[in-house]
Amino acid sequence: METQSKPPARKPHISEEPITFFNWYKHIDWLNVVFVVGIPLIGVVSSYFVPLHPYTFIFAVIFYFNTGLGITAGYHRLWSHTSYKATPILKFYLAACGSGAVQGSIRWWSRGHRAHHRYTDTDKDPYSVRKGLAYSHMGWMVMKQDPKRIGRADITDLNEDPFVVWQHRHYVFSVVAMAWVFPALVCGVWGDWKGGLIYAGILRSCFVQQATFCINSLAHWLGDQPFDDRNSPRDNMITALVTLGEGYHNFHHEFPSDYRNAIQWYQYDPTKWMIWVWKQVGLAYDLKEFRSNEIEKGRVQQLQKKLDQRRAKLDWGVPLDQLPVISWDDFVRDARVDGKALVAIAGVIHDVAGFIQDHPGGKTLIGSAIGKDATAIFNGGVYDHSNAAHNLLSTMRVGVLRGGCEVEAWKMQPSEKEKMVSDSTGQHIVRAGDQVTRMSSV
Ligand SMILES: [Zn+2]
Ligand SMILES: [Zn+2]
Repeated sequence: METQSKPPARKPHISEEPITFFNWYKHIDWLNVVFVVGIPLIGVVSSYFVPLHPYTFIFAVIFYFNTGLGITAGYHRLWSHTSYKATPILKFYLAACGSGAVQGSIRWWSRGHRAHHRYTDTDKDPYSVRKGLAYSHMGWMVMKQDPKRIGRADITDLNEDPFVVWQHRHYVFSVVAMAWVFPALVCGVWGDWKGGLIYAGILRSCFVQQATFCINSLAHWLGDQPFDDRNSPRDNMITALVTLGEGYHNFHHEFPSDYRNAIQWYQYDPTKWMIWVWKQVGLAYDLKEFRSNEIEKGRVQQLQKKLDQRRAKLDWGVPLDQLPVISWDDFVRDARVDGKALVAIAGVIHDVAGFIQDHPGGKTLIGSAIGKDATAIFNGGVYDHSNAAHNLLSTMRVGVLRGGCEVEAWKMQPSEKEKMVSDSTGQHIVRAGDQVTRMSSV
């Protein structure tokens, strides 16, 4: 008997309804559209009427780097990942510059980013690239999202950080002050407050926004996967160039709490360099680094995986355990009476019919081995065949000799088979010089 009353049905979120001619405008997050499309458009149009002052251009570039760092070193590596600790002065600088990048509050940004790392590529990832490149770039902001769909992320540490709490509470003030008023005031020093607002303010923040959006889109779409290829994050120098070093995203998703994104000295990661400089001057401390041993392990495992994929594409001959077991008498009869070109080497029977003409040692030699055990003459009795010859021979196998000792044991006893080295897909790995036909003691 059902005694519990059913909970009231939740009104479905707009994102669950199909987009139609009559409701499309309800699907749009108009506030975000103003911030990421509307205001940048106003900037583009206004730039037609306001000439660009050279000082304003220089300041806009400098301010671009500072507000970019507010996101990469602040929002991302400090607050989202706590990959290092910052003194209050540095936190103030990063929070102020981050506000100037017009990308939401630290609290909102970091919460979404933590969910992105925890649920990468799933439906709970707020900007999953599996929903398309355009969606991961801007679509997720332009279209309304069901907040209940996004995966849970713990942000109790951020709720205890006074800089994060203050900036979240006074977010609109912070954006207006840092993104637009501040650059206008600075450029007002040389009488170009309008240019300051349009170039160093609006257009510069548009560039920072687009660069950051590239991390969610391009860095999950373009480049190499040296550490893990199960998910979408990728390493790419080009994305690193536009995002102050955040383009080594495959590494970053594997080692998110490392303050570095690029680990080689020659890779472009100015965010890492700045955090290191701040450490030298006492503004940053407790910089976290994964041990190079752990990083190298990931790299080697991924290399191994790629090697397995290449190996799997090659013809290594029928696996021994799938070959028929043939008695010695049947083998001899098939060769001598039925005229089959069978040669037994190390307990494995090979059909060399198609190879007799091509045998580098001449067809007489190979012909003399038909219907016989050629283990000794193949392994040095006449000529000690190369590794390549053993590899080629393996593609000609057709059977296993009963009583073929080791070879038959592999077929008959699973415990023996387990001793064979296999790759991650269970395929037997034959190392150089390690073919079953190779008899070093002969
Ligand atoms: Zn990512
Ligand atoms: Zn991250």
